[in-house]
Formats: sequence, C-alpha cells, structure tokens
Amino acid sequence: MDFVSTQPTPLKVGLGGTCVNVGCIPKKLMHQTALLGTSMQDARKFGWELPEETVKHNWEMMKTAVNNYIGSLNWGYRVALRDKNVNYVNSYAEFIEPHKIKATNKRGKETFHTAAKFILATGERPRYMGIPGDKEYCITSDDLFSLPHCPGKTLVIGASYVALECGGFLAGLGLDVTVMVRSILLRGFDQDMANRAGEHMEEHGVKFLRKYVPVKVEELEAGTPGRLKVTAKSTESDETIEGEYNTVLIAVGRDACTGKIGLDQAGVKVNPKNGKVPVNDEEQTNVPHIYAIGDILEGKWELTPVAIQAGKLLARRLYAGASLKCDYVNVPTTVFTPLEYGACGHSEEKAIELYGQDNLEVYHSLFWPLEFTVPNRDNNKCYSKIICNKLDNDRVIGFHYLGPNAGEVTQGYGVAMKCGLTKEQLDNTIGIHPTCAEIFTTMEVTKSSGGDITQAGC
Ligand code: NAP
Repeated sequence: MDFVSTQPTPLKVGLGGTCVNVGCIPKKLMHQTALLGTSMQDARKFGWELPEETVKHNWEMMKTAVNNYIGSLNWGYRVALRDKNVNYVNSYAEFIEPHKIKATNKRGKETFHTAAKFILATGERPRYMGIPGDKEYCITSDDLFSLPHCPGKTLVIGASYVALECGGFLAGLGLDVTVMVRSILLRGFDQDMANRAGEHMEEHGVKFLRKYVPVKVEELEAGTPGRLKVTAKSTESDETIEGEYNTVLIAVGRDACTGKIGLDQAGVKVNPKNGKVPVNDEEQTNVPHIYAIGDILEGKWELTPVAIQAGKLLARRLYAGASLKCDYVNVPTTVFTPLEYGACGHSEEKAIELYGQDNLEVYHSLFWPLEFTVPNRDNNKCYSKIICNKLDNDRVIGFHYLGPNAGEVTQGYGVAMKCGLTKEQLDNTIGIHPTCAEIFTTMEVTKSSGGDITQAGC
C-alpha cells in the first residue's frame, strides 16, 4: 500500500514506497544533475566552446522532469499489479485481529480484509528532532525532491547517507550548503572512506559544522524559500552558534512505521526502543502467520534491493515450494556522495574487531581516473581498499571504492565476493584498461608497509 499518514503534513506517495518516490530514484537523478554540472566544467577543457557566462541551473525544471519520471514508474507498477491480478487497495491498514485488518482510504471509507498470511513492508519515514521549529519550518528528504522552489542556502542536519547525498547534490547544483555533524560521518561505514568522501565534499565547497547539534529553528521571513535562523550548541562545550539559511533539511535517521498499524492487536513483538520488528531467518515474526521484510526489520540492511530480494524469496518459499533464504551477508551498497563510495563486506574497524589486526592484510591505492586527467581535477582523491583475511586464504572480506560510478564498480565485485573472492584471484584477473575498476586487479601496497600509494597518471 502507498498510503502514509504519520508525518506532520500527511504525505501520500505513489506506488513504490520511499525508494521510488522520495528516496533512491529522485536522489540518483538529482545526483546525476550535479554530476552533469561538473561534466560541463570538464567539457571546456576537452574543447567544448561553452558560453563564458556561468551556466545556471533551473530547479523547477529538474523537479518536474524527475517527478514526471516517478509518475511513470508509479503507473508502471499499477499496471504490473493488474497484469498479475493483484488486488491493489490504496488505504491505511491496521490489524484489528491477528487475521484481520481494517483499511481506511483517503475519504475515510473503511473496508475489512482477512488473510491466512500477512507480510509487513511498511518501511520508514524521516525522523524529526523534537526541537522548537523543526516541524514548522524544516523539511526532510520526503519534501526535498518535490520542493516547488530552489532551496537556496541550505543547512543539512545529520551526517549519514541521506544527509551527505542530499548535501552533495545540492552543492553540485551551485547552492551554498552546510552540513551539521553531531559526531562522525557515515556511522557504521569504514571511517577512513567516510572521511575521504567528506574531505572531497569540503574541497568542493560544502561547509561542515562538526560537533554541533541544533537547538531551535526560527522563521525570520516567510517565502519560497524564506529565511530561517538556526541556533546550535556544541557537543563539547557550552558554546552556541547561530546561522541564517533559506532551507533546513533534517536528515537524522528514519523511524519504522510500525507504531500505528495495530501490531499489538495481532500480537506481533516490536522492539520498543526503535519500533523495529525482530524476525527469524525466514522473515517470520513471533506470530507465525505474519512475516516482515525491508527497513522495519531489526538488525537488517535498510536498502531497497535487500527488501526486494527478501520479499521475492519469501514469496517463493510461501507459495512455490522453494527453500532458499535471503542472504544478508556481503550486501554491496553505494553512497552517492559527489565522489561516490561503494562498499561490500566489512569496514576496516569491524574486520579488526572480528579477526584482529594481525590476521588481516589491507591493500590500498589512490588512483586518478583517466577522465579527470585532462580537466586536471581531483588528482589522488579516488581511493580503493580491500581487506583480506590471512587466516582464510587471503579472502576478501572488505571491499571499498571511492570514485566515479561506484555502484557500477561495486556491483560486479559484490558478485565476486559472494563467490568467495581471494586476493590471488584478484591478482589473476586481467583488468580492463583504462578504467577505475581495474585498480583492484593491480593492488600491491599493503597499508601495514606504509608504502607510497600516490599515482602520477592512470
Ligand atoms: P542513519 O543512518 O540512521 O543516520 C542518522 C544520522 O543523523 C547520523 O549521522 C546521526 O549522527 C545523525 N543524528 C541522529 N540524531 C541526531 C540528532 N538528534 N542531532 C544531530 N544529528 C543526529 O540515517 P539516514 O541517513 O536517514 O539513513 C537511513 C537508512 O537509509 C540508512 O541505514 C541507509 O541504509 C538507508 N539509505 C540508503 C541509501 C543508499 O543506498 N544510497 C541512501 C540513503 C539512505 P550520529 O552518528 O552522531 O548518531
């Protein structure tokens, strides 16, 4: 179902949930918009005689184009459901009994549905902070992608995926962007990689206010965009600071939409701390006929393809006699920061915690994509790293890539890791020249050696 009613301003998104409507899809298209801006600068160096005046970006046009594409996806899903004879009920669902839900549509009309089995896939919605002015004046990623006007000077609060990706593309559109970081960048990710991605953003104009949290947001002037005053306090001292922005984007995490769907009526256990649903390795909750997939699962990845895979395999097990379970290990992922970060397997920190530093060999290298050489930019900023387990035939247990097309590069190496990739196999693989991905076939310098990893050319 695509009916959402938990936000201050009730939001109704189309079929496809967060990823399609207010997540991955608009994010990647806006990231692409930003990359095109950089390509335009590069183009001059390659001989394109573009007009000298600064090329301006039109937010409204981008927003409309992106949302039109999303509309076509929503329509496609609707048609696909019809083709498969799936009854689509566009209503808000709540359990009233373990085998019965009440569904309320936008006109308030209630219908009741019973089923032998249920699959919960209600996802998450952005969290607010509970400070004065946040719900009144700030936006979240649910609002950003359909914002009717250019956000202007923007403060992004938070330092994870959503924050850095949105801050990154807004800066790439030429906007003045500040990111307010409570502690570290990209918690849970390899910190060496996270900091390199952050440094690159900083070098390209994104300002970081580190170790601050906002305490209130006030409106100075209404408008599209208006003007807001943000007061923040240091996490290390009594210092407070103030700043003026046109838009404040809150990206401090997301809450599982499990609180208002009557799970108690069905007897489904939920972790009271975070609203997440614990499941066994077959995505089954404590109530045997109720299953759950996606972002609401406790201790699992919050990634669309993971939810899709889990759902597909669950359906096959439930209705097609299959037995294959979803494998949540070595899930490749990419953070679409301006310099993209792709990863699969363990961070260096986690690998050390699990195996001990002495049992690991870390190979790493800087690299300079050929495409960057003529425009002479970002030399020795791209970085690759693999973490190998010496106790297990130098198996690659961590793969990290900071550079262009990180998703495309990481996807293939993700397959290799699923097949048990070792360092020797990487060394025996012939690279494709000249590419960025080939760097992993020629990695010689270990981190422990302290050897030089700078590259003079491609
Ligand atoms: P998240 O991973 O939960 O991170 C929350 C961020 O907000 C952290 O940086 C955290 O800082 C900060 N924060 C939390 N409370 C705060 C407060 N009161 N004041 C200031 N800062 C605060 O959140 P997310 O970025 O919304 O991502 C949610 C999930 O969506 C992720 O787990 C990810 O898997 C998924 N996602 C995936 C993609 C992708 O695949 N490319 C893109 C976007 C999102 P601390 O570190 O100090 O706690």
